[in-house]
Amino acid sequence: MRIMPGAMLGVLGGGQLGRMFVQAAQQMGYRVTVLDPAIDSPAGQIADDFVCADYSDSAALQKLGNQCAAVTTEFENIPAESLHKLVQSCIVKPDAHCVAIAQNRVLEKQFLVANGFSVAPFAIVAQPQDLTAQDVAQLLPGILKVSQFGYDGKGQMPVVNSDELTAAHEQLNHAVCVLEKFLPLKRELSVVVARGNDGLLQTFPVAENQHINGILDISIVPARVTSKLAQQAQDMACQVAVKLNYQGVLCVEFFVLQDDTLLINEIAPRPHNSGHYSINACITSQFEQQVRTLCGLPLGATTQHSAAVMVNLLGDLWRNGKPDWHRVLQHPSAKLHLYGKNAAHPGRKMGHYTVLSTELDSALREAIHIKKQLEHHRIQNL
Ligand code: ADP
Ligand code: MG
Repeated sequence: MRIMPGAMLGVLGGGQLGRMFVQAAQQMGYRVTVLDPAIDSPAGQIADDFVCADYSDSAALQKLGNQCAAVTTEFENIPAESLHKLVQSCIVKPDAHCVAIAQNRVLEKQFLVANGFSVAPFAIVAQPQDLTAQDVAQLLPGILKVSQFGYDGKGQMPVVNSDELTAAHEQLNHAVCVLEKFLPLKRELSVVVARGNDGLLQTFPVAENQHINGILDISIVPARVTSKLAQQAQDMACQVAVKLNYQGVLCVEFFVLQDDTLLINEIAPRPHNSGHYSINACITSQFEQQVRTLCGLPLGATTQHSAAVMVNLLGDLWRNGKPDWHRVLQHPSAKLHLYGKNAAHPGRKMGHYTVLSTELDSALREAIHIKKQLEHHRIQNL
């Protein structure tokens, strides 16, 4: 079934991904209802209707399901139960079982291994004493990651020996975790892929991602890798979508080892920070693609028309005063995106900018130049 412009769509979660979904949907003539527990949220601010409620609030879910033709999510930690409820009154994409896998590192790893995808060496840790001496020898130094509710490097601790492992597990409240071997990475890549309800797949160009403290800092697109490796990443992303029988937009994050071995790091059942470049650099953005998959429309072309470098704007930048946006705006090919968040906490994603160019090198140079300028210039006392 095709849902045409004019219809009301719904999104669970009011963060910046929801906001950019609302913007894409409204541009195409849809209306959007956002559900979020916070009264003031980036997506809630601009939505046609806003439901302020917890993700498991039955009455709120009922209202959302009744007034929307279709509902999607921008946030993977939606209880599967809520998606099951919604599906009784409207179309829901992605499917609850895909969200359940992507929101839980243990299920995610098990899914990937069961389907033959390569991942970093890991072990599931309910109790550190569960690990054999062999596990410990193989996996340390490693990173202990909570199974659920981690994001932007939160809920992760590097550990080099057994004592640190025990201490880290205690600090993570003895939650079920995954202990992953720390790998010397050559690069990190990601691929956003869309799969329509006819099963047709469309990938976006491969992004090369640089993280600082576990948080995405810069995405460089197209990734500076061989076309063979890029193709391999896109093929793997498609296979993940097929194996999940996925409908909607999905992101697969990859690790590249020194010898160009490609491992899957994790999957996100939604558009992704590393795909924001597509808003300005591709014929169709990842958010328009999300609208298209949700509404059963044909997928848009993902051709990249400009080389692009996206830089995240974290709350840290506000530490000594408001950033001087002129440093971005003065550049004729830089696109500023701010998410409407008031409180600038360190590590909080407040916005991003994307620099476009015909040449990747010049986009990267300009993006870094702007970054340095922003870091060194503030508008004081505003
Ligand atoms: P999140 O859910 O917070 O994005 P990730 O598992 O993707 O968590 O980890 C965040 C970042 O931390 C990765 O993008 C990578 O830079 C680094 N990282 C995570 N796991 C490993 C690992 N096993 N080896 C080396 N670096 C890692
Ligand atoms: Mg990640």
